[in-house]
Amino acid sequence: MARIVMKFGGTSVADLDRIRRVADLVAAEAKAGNEVAVVVSAMSGETNRLVAFVDALDADRVDGANDKRGGAIEDEYDTIVSSGEQVTSGLLAIALRRRGIPARSWLGWQLSLKTDKAHSKARIASIDDSEIGQSLRGGSVAVAAGFQGITDDRRISTLGRGGSDTSAVALAVALKADRCDIYTDVDGIYTTDPRIVPEARRLNRIAFEEMLELASLGAKVLQVRSVELAMNNNLPVRVLTSFAEDGVDNPGTLVCHEDETMEERVVSGVAYSRDEAQITILRLADKPGMVAKVCKVMSDANIIVDMIVQSISKSDSSANLTFTVGKRDLEKAVKALELAQSDMGFEGIVSDSNVTKVSIVGIGMRSHTGVAQTMFEALAERNINVEVIATSEIKISVLINAEYTELAVRALHSAFELEVS
Ligand code: ADP
Ligand code: ASP
Ligand code: MG
Repeated sequence: MARIVMKFGGTSVADLDRIRRVADLVAAEAKAGNEVAVVVSAMSGETNRLVAFVDALDADRVDGANDKRGGAIEDEYDTIVSSGEQVTSGLLAIALRRRGIPARSWLGWQLSLKTDKAHSKARIASIDDSEIGQSLRGGSVAVAAGFQGITDDRRISTLGRGGSDTSAVALAVALKADRCDIYTDVDGIYTTDPRIVPEARRLNRIAFEEMLELASLGAKVLQVRSVELAMNNNLPVRVLTSFAEDGVDNPGTLVCHEDETMEERVVSGVAYSRDEAQITILRLADKPGMVAKVCKVMSDANIIVDMIVQSISKSDSSANLTFTVGKRDLEKAVKALELAQSDMGFEGIVSDSNVTKVSIVGIGMRSHTGVAQTMFEALAERNINVEVIATSEIKISVLINAEYTELAVRALHSAFELEVS
């Protein structure tokens, strides 16, 4: 007997037939004598539908009211968007009972899944495993609503988009589960998004660090925090499909600690993120402290700055400073900079949201040379201009015009021969 956490994403519970299929998969594990906790997402499209309601009302500006009046709305956003998961947890519990499997739904507050107060992107602080543990030992399948938690002041919180992955890993850690299986609509982690590159290859194993980079660089298959949590707790996570036919081998991909076989690959994957926007500050004085001032303006506005490049002018002592922020933060970032313009004395601001960040990731990059050259040659051969570059020990990212996203991802995938095992 094992204790298993199984997580099903939005497409896996998209309609009642899909929920029936999930119930069959869960029932099979329960009938095999395992203790099973399930984590479910909202039905596919449901969270977007709820977010659109919030955005529509948020855009209302009653005459004379300014942006600040009434304050932030993220706490109510969480109340609303968390509701999709409540529905699926109840539906799956019913489907299981109708298969003769005792089951009940568990909402975030019933698990005492405590988070901080960062509404809409909360971090998990703790989960009380006592009641759910007792229920599992008593033979009932626990169907937990993913994505949601509760703050110390008893408000509902959510964990950021894709957060049910993190709920699943956190529950597996709290329950000391033997396995954490993340079921989705692809049969594992691929060398890049298989929707963009049909030749992409499924990996049997991937190191936590590589998955962490891929996820944070845009591969939405696992939420970044879920990988972080799994890595810190040394919990191997398997990603597999919920769409496999019965009896068909479904090995998926194991996300785990690095081993020798992984080191042989220089580049393991290509990721892209369309969630980027570029800002250039024109003719910023080229003297110590100016970049720090820009970063302070951004952090005071609660905006994360990602890639940064500075180009110094030969003719005078000024520089152009280009950096990226999340697309959703662009307007706010430009407004904050405009307010600081007279104090900082730069000439102007140019912004562009039609950009994509494309990245290559691989732990083998630590010990191999020539990787950057191969990357830039592959892009140059397709006439793709690179706007900004960022590197770390195991990744190189470039910012390019969004029109070339697919072309760049395919070019890099083939330049590093990722389709060949
Ligand atoms: P779920 O609803 O199950 O949480 P997501 O849509 O969040 O599923 O994540 C699965 C999707 O991630 C896939 O459909 C695929 O298009 C995308 N994806 C992006 N990069 C990768 C990758 N390297 N490997 C596998 N899937 C990827
Ligand atoms: N339903 C949430 C979302 O769409 C959480 C998740 O699916 O993991 O982001
Ligand atoms: Mg997801």
